[in-house]
Amino acid sequence: ADYVYGPGRTHLFVPGPVNIPDPVIRAMNRQNEDYRSPAVPALTKILLEDVKKIFKTTSGTPFIIPTTGTGAWESTLTNTLSPGDRIVSFLIGQFSLLWIDQQQRLGFNVDVVESEWGRGADLDVLEAKLRQDTAHTIKAIAIVHNETATGVTNNLATVRKLLDAYRHPALVLVDGVSSICALDFRMDEWGVDVALTGSQKALSMPTGLGIVCASPKALEASKTAKSLRVFFDWKDYLKFYEMGTYWPYTPSIQLLYGLRAALDLLEEEGLDNVINRHTRLGTATRLAVEAWGLKNCTQKEEWFSNTVTAVVVPSYIDSGEIVKHAWKRYNLSLGLGLNKLQLLGCLSGVEMVLKDVGYPVKLGSGVAAAAAYLSNSTPLIPSRI
Ligand code: PLP
Repeated sequence: ADYVYGPGRTHLFVPGPVNIPDPVIRAMNRQNEDYRSPAVPALTKILLEDVKKIFKTTSGTPFIIPTTGTGAWESTLTNTLSPGDRIVSFLIGQFSLLWIDQQQRLGFNVDVVESEWGRGADLDVLEAKLRQDTAHTIKAIAIVHNETATGVTNNLATVRKLLDAYRHPALVLVDGVSSICALDFRMDEWGVDVALTGSQKALSMPTGLGIVCASPKALEASKTAKSLRVFFDWKDYLKFYEMGTYWPYTPSIQLLYGLRAALDLLEEEGLDNVINRHTRLGTATRLAVEAWGLKNCTQKEEWFSNTVTAVVVPSYIDSGEIVKHAWKRYNLSLGLGLNKLQLLGCLSGVEMVLKDVGYPVKLGSGVAAAAAYLSNSTPLIPSRI
C-alpha cells in the first residue's frame, strides 16, 4: 500500500513536518501521566520559562497549546481583536493567503496589501497607510515572517521602525511558523506583540503544539477583545498559571517531554549557532540552484529565506512530476533540509530527478557548488575543537 515505508530511511525534505532528531523521539516514548500530579506542572513551569528563549523575549507570556499553526493563528487573532477591527495584512504567498482567509472568516476588516508571489511584504504601502491613519483605525498588522510557499523572509525590524516613526499603537501579530528557531527572530527588540509557531517546523517535533507568545500589550488587549473564543481563551490558561496547575485541559504528556528534549538540543547547540547553520545551508542551497541554471522564486536578495528555497522549474517540466518521481524512485520527499550531509544527499537526489524528468542538468554540478561553499564556511563542531 502507498503508506508502507520504502527501503531504508525516508529522506524527508519538505519544509515541515521536518525530520525529528532521535533524542526527541526517544524522549516521547513514554507512558501517560496524571497531569494533575506534581510532576507535569513542574515540567510545564520550566517549559514556559525556557520556551521564551526561542522568541528572544523576557517580557512575553507563552501559551503551549495542543493545536497546529492554524490554531495558533486563531488564538492570536481572537484573543487580541474584536469583530470588525481593521487589520493590515500582507498577501505574499499561500500561507499568508490562508491566514487572511481565516481573518476574514473570523469577521475582521482585513486591509489586504498584495505583492507578487516571490516578493516580500510591501512596506512602502504600510508606511502610506500608517501616515494616513491618524485616527488609529488600524488595530493590528498581521505578517508572516517567513512565507513558506515562496521562500520569502520579511523584514520585521522595519515594520517596528515604521510604527514607531508614526507613533502608531497597532499590535504586531507575527506568524513565525517557518522561522522561529531557525531564522533570526527577536520578539522584544522588534516590538512584536504576538508571535506564534508550530512544533513540527524548526523545533523538529511531531505536529501538535501551537506555541503562542504574547507581549504585555497583547495581554492587556486580550482583556477587552470581544472575539468569541473558548478553547483558545488565554484567560483560562492564565487562571491555571496562577493556580500553579497550568492546564485548563489535558496536555499531550509525550509532546511536553518532546518539547523538553527539543529545547535541550537547541540549548546545547546554541540558538544563534542554529540560526547561523541555517544561514550557511540556505546559502549553499541557493548556490546549487544557481549552478543548475534554475531560478529562485524569491526575487531579491533582501528577502532570501534560509529555511526554504523555492525553485521555479522551466515550463516544460511539471513540478508535481518532480515530487512524485523523487518519492517513487529515490524515496525522497522534496523540500530542503536540516544539516550539511543531509542537504548534499538531497541535492544529489534532486539532480537525478531533474535529469530523469528531462532537465539538462550536469550531475554533481549543484552538489559541487554547495559543497565548495560549505567546506569553506562550516566551523568546527564546538564540542570537538
Ligand atoms: N504558517 C506558515 C508559515 C506555515 O508554513 C504553515 C504550514 O506549513 C502554517 C502557518 C500552518 O500550520 P499548520 O499546518 O501547522 O496548521
